Amino acid sequence: MDLGIAGRRAAVAAASTGLGAAAAAALAAEGVRVVICGRDRARIEDTAAAIGHGCIGLVADVGDAAGGAAFVGAATEALGGVDILVTNAGGPPPGTFATTDLDRYEPALSLNLLSVVGMCKAAVPAMQANGWGRVVAITSLAVRQPMATLILSNTARAGATAFLKTLAREVAADGVTVNSIQPGLHATDRLRALYGADVDPAAIGVPAGVFGRPADFGAIVAVLCSDQARFVTGAQIHVDGGAYAGLL
Ligand code: NAD
Repeated sequence: MDLGIAGRRAAVAAASTGLGAAAAAALAAEGVRVVICGRDRARIEDTAAAIGHGCIGLVADVGDAAGGAAFVGAATEALGGVDILVTNAGGPPPGTFATTDLDRYEPALSLNLLSVVGMCKAAVPAMQANGWGRVVAITSLAVRQPMATLILSNTARAGATAFLKTLAREVAADGVTVNSIQPGLHATDRLRALYGADVDPAAIGVPAGVFGRPADFGAIVAVLCSDQARFVTGAQIHVDGGAYAGLL
């Protein structure tokens, strides 16, 4: 299926590796002009070269609102505009209520909530003016089903999801869609850091018995960015191999 987005311009945050890189690769394969960012120049340039299709790698830290906005500004300058924004960042450190000190909350809220706000503030008004735009936020299944040892992630991403839902309804009439994708466990560096390299997916609650493939996740991001997805907005889509046990 032709997704109808060839020639569109995308900024994909935190994309040296993992789900962000996979989203960028899927968009680039559809003919989208893509700018990605990471904090390390050599790694982001290597990833951009591996993605190909003219993908541009920029050094930017999207760990807070200003960093997120600066990345979108740089992408806008490089591409002449941004039609598609994929928000992403690393995850905060693990911990429970008892093990997580109060001073750890503000950095986590900057990383996984305020950076999303900063990126949207920088990108969405021009999308509204153009009458077309796509925002896809990579969040976490932890929004739907908080994970016991990830209290910072659970807290920050729930706030981001409420922000995105509010934004989606405000800009829906301008041709701009705003959705989030909630990854369950995918085979990336983040997963290996949290659970080790040899963990059994079924043993940690993935009914499918395998971890998600980043490339498959990237394809789902691209579909949400498609022209045909114009009527999908304000949605939170969980991609988790059946891990979420609830009805809604
Ligand atoms: P990852 O840690 O494998 O990759 C994150 C990428 O973002 C890396 O390239 C890293 O260098 C870059 N990055 C991190 N912080 C950055 C910053 N401040 N500025 C710029 N670049 C930055 O993570 P992933 O598995 O690809 O996950 C992406 C997001 O989805 C993360 O927020 C993660 O917590 C979340 N998530 C992942 C899973 C999973 O199973 N992989 C599950 C649920 C949620």
